[in-house]
Amino acid sequence: MSGENINPYDDICSQLKICTTQLGMNPGIHEILISPKVIHTVSLPLEMDNGEIKVFTGYRVQHNDARGPYKGGIRYHHEVSMDEVKALAMAMTWKCAVINIPYGGAKGGIVCDTKELSIGEKEHLTRRYTAAISQFIGPYRDVPAPDMYTDAQTMAWIMDTYSVMQGYSVPEVVTGKPIELGGSEGRTEATGRGTAICLRECARSLNMTLKDATVVVQGFGNVGVHAAMTLSSMGCRIIGLSDSRGGIFNTEGLDPSKVLGHKIETGSVLGYPGSEELTNEETLELECDFLVPAALGHQIHEKNAGNIKARVIVEGANGPTTTEADEILSRNGVFLVPDILANSGGVMVSYLEWVQNINRQHWSLTDVNQQLESKLVTAYKNVWDMKEKMDLNMRGAALSMGVSRVANAIQQLGLFP
Ligand code: GLU
Repeated sequence: MSGENINPYDDICSQLKICTTQLGMNPGIHEILISPKVIHTVSLPLEMDNGEIKVFTGYRVQHNDARGPYKGGIRYHHEVSMDEVKALAMAMTWKCAVINIPYGGAKGGIVCDTKELSIGEKEHLTRRYTAAISQFIGPYRDVPAPDMYTDAQTMAWIMDTYSVMQGYSVPEVVTGKPIELGGSEGRTEATGRGTAICLRECARSLNMTLKDATVVVQGFGNVGVHAAMTLSSMGCRIIGLSDSRGGIFNTEGLDPSKVLGHKIETGSVLGYPGSEELTNEETLELECDFLVPAALGHQIHEKNAGNIKARVIVEGANGPTTTEADEILSRNGVFLVPDILANSGGVMVSYLEWVQNINRQHWSLTDVNQQLESKLVTAYKNVWDMKEKMDLNMRGAALSMGVSRVANAIQQLGLFP
């Protein structure tokens, strides 16, 4: 995690504490919710291309499965830590519950810098990790998906390794696969597209117009790219974009597909013709209608939250805002659509992919996008209504909705033995 030096697990637990206190929840149920059900740490020895042997560490945290099989991505990052994976696994539990899909929450990670691995090394590391966790995943047990620095190719390697170990083909063990292997139409774009849909619904609920609304997107990976492109097609003006090297700004508006072409050619958004260069911090602090953080966690923290000039923040990333920053933003009247709603389009289409796989079907892009659209519009409305009813902000409302659904499931299952 970059940004401030805050423990991500402590941070999400303090959000949960506020929520369960507000809900008047039984302290025993709160205790169950803060305790991940299973934590796997695996050591992954790998022979590098130069013959050297290195040992990597991998995690899979299975937070809660009261509502269905564990679900959540796997991220490859040199700063991945156990506490970050625990926090992200918990966030997946709330996310699946908020959008009402029958899954629990999990997350995985390998501590590695993919920029320093060859494609062959990345494949071997992925296969070794899959073998190490193969007994704990499965279509009705735990279904991984892509996250930061993992993609459809990574999912193909996981599917293949798992299938070889089972002795038959099991496409439904992962989502976010290549289309040829049973992946869903629209899955790659789904997270960014979902973020754009939530932003549009937010504009509608706040009586803001989308035409020419100014938008800044921090992070130009899979989520940021598709959010920016969809928002641009909805009529928004993308005035700022950034990646890990820095940001670009043009008040007239940037064309995200052309910026993507430039990034593919040069490795960064920087140097895009006709744009002014900014640091990542400056990008976050630009004056705009909507800010979409779509990079790492904890980018908006106690020290910079007071400088944010956006009217609305729509969280494309997982955990981009710390709890302290949340309070500052809310005092300053910044409206915020939280991650567990705003980036739920990815897992929503993962669910559609899994349903297609277990039924041996393949749906059209139009069908997938229609379902994504209608389910997200409903989820947004439900969270908005909850906010009005309980006099909370959007994060409090989304969390209350997710947490109470999971708590109800736990109570209905009862405690074994
Ligand atoms: N990694 C994505 C997320 O954080 C997608 C997870 C999934 O599709 O299971 O929501």
